[in-house]
Amino acid sequence: MAATAPTTERLTLTEPQPLLIGGREVAAGPTFPAVDPSTGRVWAHIAAGTTDDVDRAVEAAANAFTTWRDSSPDIRQALLWAVAERLTEDAHNWPALLATENGRAVREGGLIDVPTAAEIFRFFSGIVRDLHGRTVSCGPNAHVVATPRPVGVVAAIVPWNSPLISVAHKLAPALAAGNTVVVKPSELASVSTVRFIRLVQDLLPPGVVNVVTGFGNDVGRALVTHPGVAKVSFTGGTETGRRILGDVSDRLVPALMELGGKGSMVVCPDADPDTVTEDVLTGIFAANGEVCFASSRLLVHRDLYGDMLERISARAGAITVGDALDPATQLGPLVTARHRDAVAALVRTAVSEGAELRAGGVVPEMSGELAGGSYYRPTVLASPGGTTSASRTEFFGPVLTVEAWTDEDEVVERANDVAFGLANGVWSADLARAYRLADRLDSGMVWINTWFATPLGQPQGGVKASGFGREGAAATLLEYTATKVVHTSLDTTRPPMWT
Ligand code: NDP
Repeated sequence: MAATAPTTERLTLTEPQPLLIGGREVAAGPTFPAVDPSTGRVWAHIAAGTTDDVDRAVEAAANAFTTWRDSSPDIRQALLWAVAERLTEDAHNWPALLATENGRAVREGGLIDVPTAAEIFRFFSGIVRDLHGRTVSCGPNAHVVATPRPVGVVAAIVPWNSPLISVAHKLAPALAAGNTVVVKPSELASVSTVRFIRLVQDLLPPGVVNVVTGFGNDVGRALVTHPGVAKVSFTGGTETGRRILGDVSDRLVPALMELGGKGSMVVCPDADPDTVTEDVLTGIFAANGEVCFASSRLLVHRDLYGDMLERISARAGAITVGDALDPATQLGPLVTARHRDAVAALVRTAVSEGAELRAGGVVPEMSGELAGGSYYRPTVLASPGGTTSASRTEFFGPVLTVEAWTDEDEVVERANDVAFGLANGVWSADLARAYRLADRLDSGMVWINTWFATPLGQPQGGVKASGFGREGAAATLLEYTATKVVHTSLDTTRPPMWT
């Protein structure tokens, strides 16, 4: 594996990243380093927020809430649109930053992350003026109106893998519905969130959006358990989701939970192998496989199994792994050496249980400054019976398990025999068969003859250990509201209860 030279100058931010509270930049006290996964080099310093910072941020958001809640929808519409425009104008500054931050290949940031984040703001800008209640038919003697009302201060907790998109998925609907927000980004990807909010700070009324960086177990925990927080909106791992739900159970705080996944691609014997091959490569190796929607299990009908396994293993073996900043790189380093080692350990366990390594499974030799990076070759495991842990574990990395099946009942049972229920897929030329299978797969999303299709308007979210709540759709606005009823009596007569 040849190391590839960077074509973009490496980013180094000398000034520590501030906290953003009440519309002001709060200089960092203690900081912790941000590490570039391509090289292992420190490239920025993040403020290690404290519980006092969380108190100040929640207070600022609470102070801003009433005015923002009562603002006219056209103000919120214009603001969300302006945020999208500002991000789009600034698009050229993002790919190198996103690649440096979490190791995703630089070609993806410009192609996917920035336009998607801007689209999320445009989508919610477009529907904010249609947020309306309804009258309830209660007969001629009452006038009853049920209205969705914003809940207050939202704690938005996001992971490191697609930080800009994740923050957009939280902020746009929460703000559209009239809430104020405190964001806690991942300690592994905080710079992008701080930069984004600084970029749009002059558009936002002070306190409407606040950012506290720091560690999950202290500032994250302090934020979700803060008495001033009315809603938790979390994207991250299932274990963390469970911990947060436990922590907020005392106060009965409602939560939206976008958690982990273990997606299966079910390939029928009449599927087109060329299309499936491209979709599989995208489904598991785009974004380094560090995606909740990743298609980490390929369940192929026995008629196609040998051929698909050969093709995909060969194509995985030819993927260019390298510096995330190099436009020629197809798969960058994993987010940290620790995460890379955890993925490698899961692969070794699967092999010890009987899975056969058909591609990858190794840490590539890199030279020069890339020797300090956290690289891992795209990996294909053959496990026709699906009996190893690789068929049920979320790797959150570039690891695909290929399995064989013979009848529909069997493949449905196997695909559903996982804790998660986020996204599955079916490939078939016969749409009746594809719909039949899609109907039986237990997940919030099922794609037919495609993967990763998430246009705005289509609800995204899971069932089972993948969480609850939906993002990216009109219904998402309601996730950030509580229905309030005003019942007006038009009748002065009363039953004779007290006479
Ligand atoms: P984590 O669950 O480790 O962290 C997610 C966020 O929670 C981070 O900001 C983290 O902070 C914070 N956090 C950690 N502990 C607590 C706590 N006790 N209270 C409050 N906040 C806390 O996930 P990762 O960042 O490692 O992301 C990977 C996971 O996210 C995968 O399982 C993936 O499937 C899932 N994910 C799901 C998506 C979906 O839409 N369903 C989309 C993207 C990812 P810190 O980083 O400082 O620890």
